[in-house]
Amino acid sequence: MLSVEPIPAFNDNYIWLITYRDRDAAFVVDPGDATPVQRALEERGLHLEGILVTHHHFDHVGGLEALRDTWNPVVFGPDNPAIAGIDHTLGAGDRIEVLDHLFEVLAVPGHTLDHIAYFHPADDTPLLFCGDTLFAGGCGRLFEGTPAMMHQSLQALAALPASTRVYCAHEYTLANLAFAAAVEPGNERLVERIARARQSRERGAPTVPSNIALERETNPFLRCDRDEVVTGLKRQGRLDGDSVVDVFAAVRAWKDTF
Ligand SMILES: [Zn+2]
Repeated sequence: MLSVEPIPAFNDNYIWLITYRDRDAAFVVDPGDATPVQRALEERGLHLEGILVTHHHFDHVGGLEALRDTWNPVVFGPDNPAIAGIDHTLGAGDRIEVLDHLFEVLAVPGHTLDHIAYFHPADDTPLLFCGDTLFAGGCGRLFEGTPAMMHQSLQALAALPASTRVYCAHEYTLANLAFAAAVEPGNERLVERIARARQSRERGAPTVPSNIALERETNPFLRCDRDEVVTGLKRQGRLDGDSVVDVFAAVRAWKDTF
């Protein structure tokens, strides 16, 4: 199977490095900064064959120009003219090859309108590269989309196979889980997850990848149909409507000020 490693960038970004067995070719996902990518490639004796971009924010595309100049990789990304240097624009249902492995493109608007995700549907361990849409224990802020849009995008990701590994673009997990515990104080799986995530961070290890099963069990943004989530919001006077999108919007608004 494909191997995936994090390249830390900026304060809390992860640029994902994808390789396959002993091949010396690599792909990276969302290279916001070229410098740590160049270093990672050099250390491993790899050349950069391709780049996957999820959305237009600078901390995901800032390294594109320098990496193109050095490696001339094939660059896949959303159909957004604001991103300079995309060779192949992608939309929902498109399929591409990454180191001879099939990846499917999902449209997941909400954090931005152009946001796409990349899914590798392997039998044993499917892989998801979801940028700033689904985070470990949380989700991206709604900079451009509506709550209904983001809720639908997250539901599509939650419907992927339970064993899917979730490679998000930031180490936000501890803050996300602290919020999740405020939303669902009675969720025992969440308590366990928080303990494991703290241990990882104390070791200096990433808390990601996560997986879809764990997100379904502990991520409040995927649990807007749960009684404890709804009653908690009502008790605090945070919920106006009855629909699951109203619940999602209320959880997202709460997190924005948490
Ligand atoms: Zn972003």
